[in-house]
Amino acid sequence: MEKTLVIATFNVHKAGEILAILPGLPLRLRTLAEFPGAGPAVEDGETLEENALKKALAAARFTGAWALADDTGLEVDALGGAPGVRSARYAGDGASYADNNAKLLAALAGVPAAGRGARFACVAALASPSGETAVSRGTLEGRITEQARGSGGFGYDPLFELAGASRTLSELSDAEKNALSHRARALAGLLPLLRRLQ
Ligand code: IMP
Repeated sequence: MEKTLVIATFNVHKAGEILAILPGLPLRLRTLAEFPGAGPAVEDGETLEENALKKALAAARFTGAWALADDTGLEVDALGGAPGVRSARYAGDGASYADNNAKLLAALAGVPAAGRGARFACVAALASPSGETAVSRGTLEGRITEQARGSGGFGYDPLFELAGASRTLSELSDAEKNALSHRARALAGLLPLLRRLQ
């Protein structure tokens, strides 16, 4: 019988990307939203690793199945690596993507293009109900634009221009983003383990 793998997120954009990135594995993929009573884990860790593991372990324990989570941060050089692990609530608890993007543009007002370097870092974590874990990190280099461009993706994508390219992540198709993203690079490191779960 196929094993179940729970995608431990309530973020529909993130779940969609993870499902699109994972190759055809003989696993039954389900999202946490399909499990009545499941709630979001509190993301109070000091590192992306801590938060990703916390989400994966909580989902694995709750569902009794292997679970896969990711935690992502945007690290902006001119801001000393902020917002980093606090990217989701950069503009405060419950901040929208628009609030966070507006705060980021304001924080970088007057900073010239050469000083706007940034990267996405993503940590993917896999956990079993009995507490076995594995993590993998992926990064994507770029810079923060002076205004939002594009309509694809989510979060900080409209402000993140890829290194060596003139397009933001929001100006890529879903397939293009999923072929090179921080999330795809992090998940690639877990594929050998995921293939062995069968
Ligand atoms: P978390 O991993 O759900 O904690 O996400 C942290 C923050 O980064 C949230 O504000 C997300 O919207 C944002 N974020 C996560 N992944 C991406 C991405 O692939 N592109 C742009 N923003 C992202």
